[in-house]
Amino acid sequence: MLPSAIGTVIAVQANFYQVQLLNGQQLLCTKREKLKKIGTKVMVGDVVTVADWQSERGVITTVAERRNELDRPPIANVDCIMLVFALAEPAIDPLLLSKFLVKAESTDIPVQLCLNKCDLLSVAEQEQWIARLSAWGYPPILISTLTSAGLSALQEQLRDRMTVLAGHSGVGKSSLINQLIPDLDLRVAAVSGKLNRGRHTTRHVELFNLPTGGLIADTPGFNQPDLTCYPTDLPTYFPEIRSQLPSNCQFNDCVHQGEPGCVIDREWERYPHYLEFLAEAIKYQQQVINQKQPDAQWKQKTNKLEPLLAAKRYRRVSRRSQTQGLPDLTEDSTEDD
Ligand code: GDP
Ligand code: ZN
Repeated sequence: MLPSAIGTVIAVQANFYQVQLLNGQQLLCTKREKLKKIGTKVMVGDVVTVADWQSERGVITTVAERRNELDRPPIANVDCIMLVFALAEPAIDPLLLSKFLVKAESTDIPVQLCLNKCDLLSVAEQEQWIARLSAWGYPPILISTLTSAGLSALQEQLRDRMTVLAGHSGVGKSSLINQLIPDLDLRVAAVSGKLNRGRHTTRHVELFNLPTGGLIADTPGFNQPDLTCYPTDLPTYFPEIRSQLPSNCQFNDCVHQGEPGCVIDREWERYPHYLEFLAEAIKYQQQVINQKQPDAQWKQKTNKLEPLLAAKRYRRVSRRSQTQGLPDLTEDSTEDD
């Protein structure tokens, strides 16, 4: 009998799946007919059983239940989303950073902040950013791909897990990946001269092995994300609020904007961001309601003081069961071409 083994799908191309076994060996696999019949999708990040493998080929026979699943980029079982920003060139826009954090939080996957180009700031300035972002709930890892500062701390964070890197173009993500995986640079550079270039135009995802341990997936640079969440979910996307809960707000679905009985402290830096996103979330919820039930808008108009209560009758998708995406990547896809 031919052997079977467990592995992780690291790339998908048409009907072929690149699977890495636990011992590091890579197999080119197809999907068993039965999986096709029952419509089982196989995606990057899936943990699969491979049967009948020999001479670097195999057949995927089962797909393990996913712990999570990102929609954009399509990838399963992600341990961490690492947002890469630059401390300077371009300077951090706190509101934009906040929005990316909230979007990443909405996936329910742990978020880590990595700030590149620390060589452009004084030690005192670096410490200010660390203190400021730690107060937001995101102690950042500061690095410089130029001087290699912070790189080993970053490698430690990436070890033994699967991390999706996300960041604006210009923050130094390509430089970072080149540093983390020097071999990859050679391979990609030989094709296009610039890492990622080809990948920017497609939704292709691939997991790469870090020599220091761990798997990373790159995502193309992205634009300002839209917040597509419901007002009552938004508080859970802010560590500053999470750390104050559970507390006894007057209402179960309190959105903490000064309702009588709300006990959430409002003296924190990002509270104005929270209010701004809350307005966006209320607008989004309204759009959803309008689509589902045209007369709901009328009901809300007559009930202006409690628009959220009016909306509550409509079932919302639970945070955990939603298939989530990082900010939509399509708009940015031509940027580098
Ligand atoms: P990407 O668009 O995020 O992939 O960014 P690149 O890796 O192409 O880098 C964008 C620019 O930032 C380039 O000019 C890099 O030389 C520069 N850069 C990248 N990392 C650093 C860094 O650590 N310090 C400084 N000062 N510049 C950097
Ligand atoms: Zn409250």
